[in-house]
Amino acid sequence: MQITYRCPECGRDDRADEIEHRDALVCRGCGHAIAIPPGAIEDGHVRRCVVCPSHELFVRKDFPQKLGVGIVVVGLAASCVSWGFAYRFWTYGILFATAAIDAVLYLVFTDCLTCYRCGARYRGPGVTQRHEPFNLETHEKHRQMTARRTGVAPLAESSGKSPPQPSSD
Ligand SMILES: [Zn+2]
Ligand SMILES: [Zn+2]
Repeated sequence: MQITYRCPECGRDDRADEIEHRDALVCRGCGHAIAIPPGAIEDGHVRRCVVCPSHELFVRKDFPQKLGVGIVVVGLAASCVSWGFAYRFWTYGILFATAAIDAVLYLVFTDCLTCYRCGARYRGPGVTQRHEPFNLETHEKHRQMTARRTGVAPLAESSGKSPPQPSSD
């Protein structure tokens, strides 16, 4: 099982493999070690996040959100240009291709497990089993807890907000 996480000490995005056989995650940036609690991972099942103490994790597509958004932005810009030149065929063609590329990428990427609280991602065979998909209520609860911990007042939540996104993408 592989994990991608943000070091709570130096803020560096790091990655570790075979975490089920390790007792600690050691940051390659600052050397900060996070002890993996015994029983956190059992038979390929993440019972709790190894980076933070949260037990709440959700299943999501392991899809780089910025790439998806980038494709849509480029597609829209290109279709606007062709629309401006009155190339109606090209405009629809570009929009269709943009949607098709996004759909194919979505199918190609597999699921991963993400921690609501710290955003750590877990990848590996069967890692998403026994876990639920994204839940906005749980996400909101963790967002407000984070706001309280850091002393930053939470902003008004807009509906359909996407889950926290580590900047490693
Ligand atoms: Zn670090
Ligand atoms: Zn976590």
